[in-house]
Amino acid sequence: MVTPCIVVKFFGRVLKYRMAWAGCLKKFAIYLVVSAITLFTFQSSVIQFEFPIYRVVLDPGHGGKAIIPKDEYGDRFDVLSMKYLDTYREGASYKDYYEHIYTYAIAQRVEALLQLLSPDGNFEKFNTILQKYTDKPVKRIYIKVFISRGPSLNSHLIHKDPNAPYRLFDFIGSDGMRKEGRISYINSLHPHLVVSIHFALHSSPYFRGMNAVIAAPYSILYKGLQYLQGTIADRSFFYNSKYADWFTENEHKSGFYWYCNDVALYFTGYRIKDDYTIDANAFRGYRYNMVQWAYNDPPGWAHSAKHHPPHTPYADNIKEFIPQNAFFAREQSIYEQYRRDGGFEGYGGDNLYASNEIIRFVLYNLYSKGIRHKDQRLAPPYISIWSVPLHINAINAFIEFGYLARPYTRTIINNHLDDVAEGIAVGIYSLFTGVEVTKKYPFTPYGKKIDLDKYRIDKSNDYFSIVR
Ligand SMILES: [Zn+2]
Repeated sequence: MVTPCIVVKFFGRVLKYRMAWAGCLKKFAIYLVVSAITLFTFQSSVIQFEFPIYRVVLDPGHGGKAIIPKDEYGDRFDVLSMKYLDTYREGASYKDYYEHIYTYAIAQRVEALLQLLSPDGNFEKFNTILQKYTDKPVKRIYIKVFISRGPSLNSHLIHKDPNAPYRLFDFIGSDGMRKEGRISYINSLHPHLVVSIHFALHSSPYFRGMNAVIAAPYSILYKGLQYLQGTIADRSFFYNSKYADWFTENEHKSGFYWYCNDVALYFTGYRIKDDYTIDANAFRGYRYNMVQWAYNDPPGWAHSAKHHPPHTPYADNIKEFIPQNAFFAREQSIYEQYRRDGGFEGYGGDNLYASNEIIRFVLYNLYSKGIRHKDQRLAPPYISIWSVPLHINAINAFIEFGYLARPYTRTIINNHLDDVAEGIAVGIYSLFTGVEVTKKYPFTPYGKKIDLDKYRIDKSNDYFSIVR
């Protein structure tokens, strides 16, 4: 029975020994805890700061059918009249070439490539692709990819409401409930980047090539409102701006007319007549209330909007129009300025840069394959108030990849969809982390990443997350 005593003693000594160290250990423990907290906080702020998983939505254009009557099958549902204001826009077609088929075919290919960048994706495979573009070290980044719609094959034979899966704007379903269109769906995913994929039918030779489609910034639209309200008399502000190359619906009227028409539409919801006054018969609705997001007018807005009262954002007399609500506050925010103004291209903001950069990567890949053509070029953007670039809170690369009526575009579609998709995927990767390309082809990508930190609002929110 000696042992226990010794043991006790032993423990006593050990305890004493430990007690002697306790002060030190305690300090060390506190140090460890503090450093762990510091490290954790630092890491989590770094993680938030660097957007560790980038969310990308691929948005292949169209998919539904332009069936009439539009009252039943259309898009742009207006709760004031409880009617669709637009026929569904099914996209371009030329002979057997349908825009909605090839936009989806490209999106699927890009999706497969970007899945290599998912947290459990095969980065080595993506790295092999990157080696074709750059001899510089590349970074492992993480991307979660979504697609904004399913395939469009014969949906009109299956669905009672064939355009339900494809509408851009919210609508009332056959069950009488409000359903979300694609813009609301895209915003619900809180993407950092949305890549909208389109083809057009034909255009003037000026638009030969691939081009961006951008929404003009608030500053230039507001000047147009002042012009229509009579507080600015001179048109020079428009011609001297970087946005003077405005999209014209037809050549019968000037670029300035179409600009003013879009300004009136953007603010009041009405088109203008030839004399630049509001056309009371051409109401096109309040688009910002046709989607679900943080910038809707408060419930009950439709009740007062119906009467278009003066000195409100519903006035039908443009002189009495006031751009004052959640949407116009959003429009004047610094984040919308980042998205739509200035930036690497000198105008058009991150939207134009993202679009042009993706196009440059596509062109780079085509050139590297030895493909040459006079239409293989970056063309100037279509500038207007387009629905998708305007009503999503993400950086939007909205791209017309060519013109179905032109043989070159059909050659690309027939033989090079994989090459186009690869250029898009590498372009997307580069927008998040930068890729310095090796070869100097025409329209060489800038290879600069977009600074997403400027979209951070506070510790836990950024512009992409607050949209809804
Ligand atoms: Zn299209």
